[in-house]
Amino acid sequence: MNTETILKILQERIHSTIVATIGDDGHPQVRAIDIMLIEDGKPIFLTARGKAFYDQLISQQFIALSGVKEGCSISLRGKVRSADSALLEKAFEQNPYMQTIYPGITRKALEMFELYEGQGEYFDLNFRPIYRQSFTIGGAEKNKWQYTVTSACSGCGLCLDICPQHCIERIGKKVRIQPEHCLHCGLCFERCLHKAVVPTDESK
Ligand code: SF4
Ligand code: SF4
Repeated sequence: MNTETILKILQERIHSTIVATIGDDGHPQVRAIDIMLIEDGKPIFLTARGKAFYDQLISQQFIALSGVKEGCSISLRGKVRSADSALLEKAFEQNPYMQTIYPGITRKALEMFELYEGQGEYFDLNFRPIYRQSFTIGGAEKNKWQYTVTSACSGCGLCLDICPQHCIERIGKKVRIQPEHCLHCGLCFERCLHKAVVPTDESK
C-alpha cells in the first residue's frame, strides 16, 4: 500500500486520532484530534490558541498520534509546524461539523498545524495473518525495528508452532520471519534456544 493511500485512510476512514505531547510536569498528555485534511502528503489538524496543546505544539514541535477504526490502526510520530492559515477555510468546507463547534467568526481562535516529517505504521487486524507496514512522510528515515532470524538458526523448528500468526517460514535449513505479518509479540525470541531470533533495527 502506498503512503498516499495510508494517509487517505487516516483522514477519511479513521479521522479522529489521539495525539500525545509532553506536559509541563514532564509526563505524556493525550487528547483527541481530528485530521482535517491531507495536503501535499502532510496531515493537517487544528487547535485553539487558548489550549495548553497549542503551547506544547509551538514549544515541542513534535507529536505522536494514533487512530483506530474497525480493526485498522495508523500510528505516526514526527515533526509539526504551523500550516498555511488559508487551510482553515478548506478544513471547514471539508469538515462541516466544525461550523457548529466554532460558528461564525469564532473560528478565528483556531490555528492550523501540519505534521511534515515522520515515521508511521499501518496495522490491520482484519487479515489473517495480520498485516503491518511501515511508512514515512517528508523524507524521514523508515522505522526498521523488527524481529529477524540470524545465521545461528539450527532449523530446529521450535519457533514455528508458537507463532500466533504462523508467519515464520522455512527457507532451506533455516527459518525466516515475515515482517509484514509479525505481531512483535516476542514469543519466538523467548522460545529459541540458540538465541537466533533477535530484535533488530536494519537501519543500524
Ligand atoms: S527456534 Fe531458533 S533455531 Fe529453532 S528454527 Fe526457530 S529460530 Fe531457528
Ligand atoms: S514475534 Fe511473535 S508474531 Fe512475530 S514471528 Fe515471533 S512469534 Fe511470530
